Amino acid sequence: MEDCLTTLRGRIESCCESACSCFRKNQDKPDSSVVIPNLHAESRDPDRPLRPSPFPPVPAKPMGKLFAAQYDYQARTDDDLSFHAGDKLEILKETDSGWWIARALDGASANRSGYIPANYVAPLESLGAQMWYFADTKRVEAEKLLQAKGNQNGSFLIRQCESQPGELSLSVLHDETVKHYKIKQLDGQFYIIRSKGFSSLMDLVQHYSTMDDGLCVRLRKPCRKAIVPQTIGLSYNTADHWEIPRSSVQLLCRLGTGQFGEVYEGMWNNTTAVAVKKPKPGSVNLQNFLQEAQFMKKLHHPKLIQLYAVCTIGEPIYIITELMRNGNLLEYLQRDKGKTVNLSDQVEMAAQVAAGMAYLELQNYIHRDLAARNVLVGENNICKVADFGLARVFKSEGDDDDDEDEDGGVYEMSKGTKLPVKWTAPEGLHENKFSIKSDVWSFGILLYEIITFGTLPYPMFTNLQVVHQLRSGYRMPCPSNCPKRVYEVMRDCWKDSPYDRPTFETLQWTLEEFCDLDVSSYADADRY
Ligand code: ATP
Repeated sequence: MEDCLTTLRGRIESCCESACSCFRKNQDKPDSSVVIPNLHAESRDPDRPLRPSPFPPVPAKPMGKLFAAQYDYQARTDDDLSFHAGDKLEILKETDSGWWIARALDGASANRSGYIPANYVAPLESLGAQMWYFADTKRVEAEKLLQAKGNQNGSFLIRQCESQPGELSLSVLHDETVKHYKIKQLDGQFYIIRSKGFSSLMDLVQHYSTMDDGLCVRLRKPCRKAIVPQTIGLSYNTADHWEIPRSSVQLLCRLGTGQFGEVYEGMWNNTTAVAVKKPKPGSVNLQNFLQEAQFMKKLHHPKLIQLYAVCTIGEPIYIITELMRNGNLLEYLQRDKGKTVNLSDQVEMAAQVAAGMAYLELQNYIHRDLAARNVLVGENNICKVADFGLARVFKSEGDDDDDEDEDGGVYEMSKGTKLPVKWTAPEGLHENKFSIKSDVWSFGILLYEIITFGTLPYPMFTNLQVVHQLRSGYRMPCPSNCPKRVYEVMRDCWKDSPYDRPTFETLQWTLEEFCDLDVSSYADADRY
């Protein structure tokens, strides 16, 4: 076993080594303007602390590509560059690790250089660099964002219109409600009212910022970008090399306890809040985990919890991920019970989960334990799928706690494997067969959990009874207050044959379309 692990770690090291040599190769390219220290190679010893390494001075006149920061970024290591949304940056080196080297041209870090997360910036003058442009934002999301703290009357954003791809919408906050206006494009001109065309969106925004001219209110500040994208890894040198020193992680407080261990809020490098999963000693099959983590690390999607790093040298292992302030979706819904979350939010949350799963579907990845307890919630009802693939790496063989009561009847032993019976598709229960289509079955159950604010599925049945009932074709009835169309989605997920169940891609657009049905929220400018 130890040999096995040594070989595996060796493979991971050599993988990192080749990533390092790629990086070094890039550095070998002649580049007179900047000399980049070989930081990556030096980071290979996980117990060596991050060392300060100021970047050498660069010419005062910008020679590289100019970008604008979209979000605030606070340096996490001494080699990072802090910046604020709107700051101008010159890109000195692009790498494909998700981290670039840049120099700040203005703002508090002016003239300093360092690593920046590449997904926090957009080319200067591009649409993406405009603080009011929220490219992939759905109508319901736009409403949540504009109604969140930090915005005021006249706060606005422009987004792609989900009901008509390629079209744009303007969303504006007015008297605590959000109005949406279609932006028409004709002969290279942008219009909100037919009689007034603009040659660019910037000109249109400029015009309506000076006067309301038929809108409910004059455009004031761009909507606050409250949802900051996840970085690839915690820093440039954990992006490829994900084994980090245990000493760099501080455990602060326990967030929860799961079937296989505890989860803590933690702090990495004294700078970055993270979640740290600490499985019970001996509960993880380390070899499977290291294999799985190799793949999990490459999965990046805004609706999936980002795996940042691991500490696997010595027990207990740490699995370090992004932190979600509102905990798991099951408890979130049970706490809310409809006080703040309405039907449109519920469907929108389900659509977010479907979006994360559609990405896994595209990567040919199977979750195996999709349920509301494994979806985490951030601010503004942002939902992200967690624990994908982990069901494979937790040891259950030989476990003797096959008692339903132990964990509320969620998991039950089946041929040496623990299964979340009420979420598992019939082919999983009877033949131990798992596929993306068995995840679709589980998604149907998760949709039931969402609509019922976290009711235990099949409330009248034990796990064993569920197994028997499903064999005879039983399916849960439509929950009260659940629209027929949403129940139809559940029933599609619970089709007997996996082939007859929808794909996650279809589930995503079906649910998104449902969110967008409320066209009454689109306003006409007064003189349209
Ligand atoms: P199971 O072990 O059966 O999958 P679980 O998913 O609830 O159950 P864990 O993944 O160990 O178990 O998580 C325990 C609890 O810790 C979660 O229910 C959640 O409330 C909290 N938690 C887990 N991950 C995070 C995170 N990244 N951010 C914030 N809270 C988290």
